[in-house]
Amino acid sequence: MQPERIAALIEAAAGAIRDQAEHLTTLDQAIGDGDHGHNMKRGFEAILEQKAELAALAPGQALQKAGMTLVMKVGGASGPLYGSLLMALGKAAPAGPLTAAALADMLQAGIAAVMARGKSTTGEKTLLDVLAPAEAALRAGIAADEAAPALAARVKAAALAAAEATKPLQATKGRASFLGPRSVGHMDPGACSSALLIATLCDTFTDSP
Ligand code: ADP
Ligand code: MG
Repeated sequence: MQPERIAALIEAAAGAIRDQAEHLTTLDQAIGDGDHGHNMKRGFEAILEQKAELAALAPGQALQKAGMTLVMKVGGASGPLYGSLLMALGKAAPAGPLTAAALADMLQAGIAAVMARGKSTTGEKTLLDVLAPAEAALRAGIAADEAAPALAARVKAAALAAAEATKPLQATKGRASFLGPRSVGHMDPGACSSALLIATLCDTFTDSP
């Protein structure tokens, strides 16, 4: 992948997190401790600062390094969880071109890493409830032989819908689980940030084929 492409993806992701930080914090105020926007912003600003260095690396190496940055810079549950996700995506990245099938396998490895780190699974009102449907949508699009723009649109729509679908769930992991049934009726902050990142990356991919 060209350096400009990696730089564009980093800028888009960091920009989206910066724009939505307050919203993520508001969601976390409802069912957590109100730091999710701050945590994510801190992590992605740190990744943005490393943009030149990351852009010069192969995508897999860049993802692993960005993941380590998140683990080091971000407190809370989301630092280690998103850090594990990015590191696993990077480790699973192919040496050759990043095909849709390779991206699906990377996502599968990332999901497994988050599950291992969080001792969690889907249906627990976490970012996993967005990541897993995004992988499923990607695989469905591949099976339907869709071209990149249709595939990106399908994955984006699935991720945004999946974040909405965390509202009726009761949290059984993380701080929100302390609320028990009172966690029902709110979107999970981590699901929201995951959907935001996936939607932004899908848009960026589509903008510059
Ligand atoms: P903290 O909960 O430490 O304040 P954040 O507010 O930054 O950290 O992140 C909260 C998000 O982390 C939740 O919305 C949820 O999506 C995710 N999360 C928390 N615990 C887990 C877990 N065990 N497994 C997967 N995701 C989790
Ligand atoms: Mg929090």
